[in-house]
Amino acid sequence: MEECIFCKIAKKEIKADIVFENENFISFLDKSPIFKGHTLLIPKNHIETLFDFPEGYLKELAVETKRIANGVKKGIGCDGILLINNNIISQSVPHFHVHIIPREKGKLLRGFMWPRTKYKDGNEEEEFREKIAKAIEIFK
Ligand code: AMP
Repeated sequence: MEECIFCKIAKKEIKADIVFENENFISFLDKSPIFKGHTLLIPKNHIETLFDFPEGYLKELAVETKRIANGVKKGIGCDGILLINNNIISQSVPHFHVHIIPREKGKLLRGFMWPRTKYKDGNEEEEFREKIAKAIEIFK
């Protein structure tokens, strides 16, 4: 069976713009962001949904979600953060992930998880990755 795309990212078999990782979690930029700086946090183990999450692992999930949200907010200087976690319905990748999405005052969401934007060609995606990764390191 074809292996899960997020497992491949966790194992570094395919490239992602990684902003943070530790033993159990890895976080990287969403390749099709709602707003630039949109970041995903996943467990390295293949856990499909919230319902499959081991109880003993949930505190760490909350702690790491806060860490990445803090890094996105401070790294790109946005006003707030939207957290989304789709389970089964609207879940296009069956490997648990939290969407950590920067929000700016007056910049409205037009729909649920759309439209998506694109990084400019060149270095823009790397600039966002670097700002978030640095802020996670500084504000840990
Ligand atoms: P969901 O629809 O809630 O399951 O979200 C899956 C997210 O994964 C979407 O926002 C996709 O843009 C994102 N995504 C899928 N493949 C990749 C990838 N290889 N690298 C980064 N983000 C990805």
